[in-house]
Amino acid sequence: MEGTRRQTIDYGLQREHKDALTTFCYEGKDPNLREKPYCFPCLYYDHKTVVSELKRCSRCHVAWYCSAECQTRHFKDHRAICKQIAEDEKCLELAAIPLRHFVDPEEDNAVAENILETRAGELGDIAEAQDYFKARIILANSYWTEAYMSEVKEVWEKSLFHFLELLRLYHISCPLEICFRVPFLLLYLNRDDEAYTFIRYWIELDNIDDEETLLRHKRSREGDWIYPVEPNCRYRDMFEDYTKLDGQEETEPYLMALAINKMRIVASNDFLSRALDYTLHETDGRRIQQVRSVVQEMLIGNDNDVASQRQQRDRLLDKIDFYDSKTLGIFLTCEPVSEARQFMNVDDVFRGEYDYPLGIALANGFRSFFRIPGAVDLVRQRV
Ligand SMILES: [Zn+2]
Ligand SMILES: [Zn+2]
Repeated sequence: MEGTRRQTIDYGLQREHKDALTTFCYEGKDPNLREKPYCFPCLYYDHKTVVSELKRCSRCHVAWYCSAECQTRHFKDHRAICKQIAEDEKCLELAAIPLRHFVDPEEDNAVAENILETRAGELGDIAEAQDYFKARIILANSYWTEAYMSEVKEVWEKSLFHFLELLRLYHISCPLEICFRVPFLLLYLNRDDEAYTFIRYWIELDNIDDEETLLRHKRSREGDWIYPVEPNCRYRDMFEDYTKLDGQEETEPYLMALAINKMRIVASNDFLSRALDYTLHETDGRRIQQVRSVVQEMLIGNDNDVASQRQQRDRLLDKIDFYDSKTLGIFLTCEPVSEARQFMNVDDVFRGEYDYPLGIALANGFRSFFRIPGAVDLVRQRV
């Protein structure tokens, strides 16, 4: 009995959403992002959304309940992650103390400084700042785990905040894995232009002015987004923009995020196109015919037509397959678990089977990937 219920909890709900999405409407976004929090047990167990005023869990602050009964009901499922987040927050706070009054042993007559402010971008050079780095990445991951389950915007933003802070403080000393996670976080938040900008920044890092970058880091504040974003840049041709995309190894997570970006654009355009054709057919309306091109242009951006977006999408998928001819086949085997609510379940599927960084791309990206209508067919045509 317990086993059956578990399966409904883990897979049932989002499947419904996915089917509804493919049948009715697609806007080029992740349809499951929850702009507002909801009562977790009411939705998980009863499949109903409660609109009354919600209370937050006072320990982790990232779980919401409509009543004390609901909180009790959810306790068994929530206990572990709640405790984890509270402990991780405490560890980070403790690790920050020595950095706030840091006296540089390499400098004569050094005075105490708060290097979390004065040395942003350079903490990777300071041995004493390594524990802080570890504490923050653990916390970022805990929020990720919770966000993956609840899909509440505020929780995704918390995880993003900590990943961005790691990059702001440690910059180029951050392991690639941290850079790889951010575009997927942004895609879950439907911030596709920022995902594009972020990838471009890190791929083209060698061409970026070091002094200017460092200055930007020092002027910023905790968790700030410090990458300049050009509106609608997600429509741009990344193969023109990223001169290194073709030559660089270990780019699977970026390629996958970019492919998701382009697949969303093409799929939403295809949806709109079909909807317009249907409306035209049904109404035989001339005025609609006139607005068709305008609407189409609005959706796809001014400089790029849909054929070009489609071509870029296909080129990215080819590229993913190029690294390992089995890659897209592996995608397909992951599809059945892409809606599992627990991130750990997903992790279990991959453990030891797929090499870094492909494993990162899959574990972090496949849910977004398969939520795009037509994704399964697109992959099937290629394997
Ligand atoms: Zn409730
Ligand atoms: Zn909690």
